[in-house]
Amino acid sequence: MAQQQRRTAWDIETVLVHSGRSSHIESPSGTPTAPPIYASTTYLHENMQMLDTVFDGTTPEGQPAYVYARHGNPNTCALEDALTQAEGGVGTAVFGSGMAAIQAALLAAGLTGGAKIVASQDLYGPTIGLLRKVFVPIGVELALTDLCSPDAAAFIRAEQPDIIYVETLSNPLVKLVDLAMIGEVAQEVGAVTITDNTFATPYLARPIEHGFDLVIHSATKYISGHGDSTGGTVTSSKNTLLNQLKHYALMLGAVLSPFEAHLLLRGLRTLPLRMERHCANALQVARFLEQHPAVARVYYPGLPSHPHHVLASNLLKCEHYGGLLAFELKQQSREAAFRFIDSLQLCLPATTLGDVFSQVSYPATSSHRTLTAGERKSMGIADGCIRLSVGIEHVEDIINDLDQGLQRATELG
Ligand SMILES: *Cc1c(COP(=O)(O)O)cnc(C)c1O
Repeated sequence: MAQQQRRTAWDIETVLVHSGRSSHIESPSGTPTAPPIYASTTYLHENMQMLDTVFDGTTPEGQPAYVYARHGNPNTCALEDALTQAEGGVGTAVFGSGMAAIQAALLAAGLTGGAKIVASQDLYGPTIGLLRKVFVPIGVELALTDLCSPDAAAFIRAEQPDIIYVETLSNPLVKLVDLAMIGEVAQEVGAVTITDNTFATPYLARPIEHGFDLVIHSATKYISGHGDSTGGTVTSSKNTLLNQLKHYALMLGAVLSPFEAHLLLRGLRTLPLRMERHCANALQVARFLEQHPAVARVYYPGLPSHPHHVLASNLLKCEHYGGLLAFELKQQSREAAFRFIDSLQLCLPATTLGDVFSQVSYPATSSHRTLTAGERKSMGIADGCIRLSVGIEHVEDIINDLDQGLQRATELG
């Protein structure tokens, strides 16, 4: 109990460094400081009566109990506990990928034939694909709009949706959703609120504090941070939704493997430290790009020129604006963008983000490739738009690489 009380008083840095340690096995031959990886699919119990008692996941004393890996495992439970504390929820369910987590969150929120969902038009491409190609065909009503706009509240009141789905920070222009405002309107119309908090991480924003019901992560990104594990998480602010989530997790079967859970918990321990550096580097890189003659425009919420700079200063952790930015080349063409990316020597041409390495992508041929040129244009994604996930390398090395890349792209143009 003393341990529990102390824990709730700890700051997120301390919580994450020590998370998962409570699940260690105490052994007279020595207690490991790092949790072992439990590869076992099946757990044996003293007798049939005991197996029957623990079948639903807890001992009579309320301790976690394991029966079969799809139902839960010590490594996935340790990761769930850590995320629950980081996001300030009542519980978490983890999945084999971010997309699996999104599907389960939508089902748990009640998205089924006849239900209506209002979602941001800027969502991660495959999320829009999931809504359009899996949920709409079974009778879901989908209304996409710009939920970062001041008109969002009026739109929600007019639509009266059952569910509202946003991303805390949008891709690739790093727009912000006013979570508190959306949370309030959702309460008014009785909608369940879901946000994908992948870009912000719980270090920068904790949407449950702003009234959100479900918080999703593609743990493949900042939580892993090292480009070596795929996973997804959903943290709930309410027990009713958590029970639904666990229920769907069990049936959909898109479980996280114990090995990935081990890596993701390991990643989570250094998340605050990495985010500090990602944010500091990104701000310097954004300032460098903003004054560069080959760059037309920079989108980074830490710059006063970003339309959501003030909201970002209120919503995100003080003076921290994330590791992602986008910018437009003055030469607004796919050829110039490809030349720029191909001439980079340090930043990796990668479709992912949030790793320790700096990564660049061209949204028109990656995250937004299924959209038409007209649709991209209406979302503000120009032909010269490049996304940069700023890594934790020395900032001068990143800046020098971008500078030589911009020069090469311009010379040859
Ligand atoms: C990558 C990503 C996802 C999907 O996650 P996977 O782990 O690739 O399934 C969902 N949302 C956002 C914002 C992402 O960046």
